[in-house]
Amino acid sequence: MVNRAVWETLHKELAAAGATLVAVSKTKPASDIKELYDLGQRHFGENYVQELVSKQAELPADIQWHYIGHLQSNKVKYIAPFVHLVHAVDSFGLLKEINKQAAKNSRVIDVLLQMHIADEETKFGMDEADIFELMEYYTAQKEDMQNVRICGLMGMASNTDDEQKIRSEFARLNNFFIHLAETSFLGKPYFAIRSIGMSSDYHIALAEGGNMVRIGSMLFGNR
Ligand SMILES: *Cc1c(COP(=O)(O)O)cnc(C)c1O
Repeated sequence: MVNRAVWETLHKELAAAGATLVAVSKTKPASDIKELYDLGQRHFGENYVQELVSKQAELPADIQWHYIGHLQSNKVKYIAPFVHLVHAVDSFGLLKEINKQAAKNSRVIDVLLQMHIADEETKFGMDEADIFELMEYYTAQKEDMQNVRICGLMGMASNTDDEQKIRSEFARLNNFFIHLAETSFLGKPYFAIRSIGMSSDYHIALAEGGNMVRIGSMLFGNR
């Protein structure tokens, strides 16, 4: 069930903040997505390749699909023809595979690097040193990497009620983003996205530099 009133409010609030709302529709039926689409929502986020592929096939072609989950290299080929933004690149190998599949489809695919900012061991992502290392490989092979574009960072805060902790985790990501934008060749107009914040913490994310939020349960109800 879609919460239309919440969408209206969120849509206005995020537009005023200059942030992009990604409606996270994983596990929800295509009919729910169509309902939000009809209100004007265009960015949708999915976590499972199979599910994304079948929804993409049956829903309007101008939906901008975000792949927000952990992506296995051997599955990139299924979403490469249409995916709008891959949020969770966490290795150079994955980046290379996305580049390869994008080239096969004569596309440039936009991606974010996933930064590990939470305490939990279970959350994927790279720390600052890992990202510097990935950038070194990327720089060295830049000529062969023309089909991917690194557009920013993505992160998930710890699952906690401690607002101060969430705030400092998002701030860490934003500070590193600023550092990369200022000091590396990524300092290009398109290196601009900080995808942080979900239903429970998006206010904090907006206050800490986030300009893309991924919101599921607030819009579609609990999974
Ligand atoms: C499911 C999911 C979300 C949305 O979470 P909600 O709490 O339902 O808003 C955001 N980001 C990622 C990576 C997710 O897997």
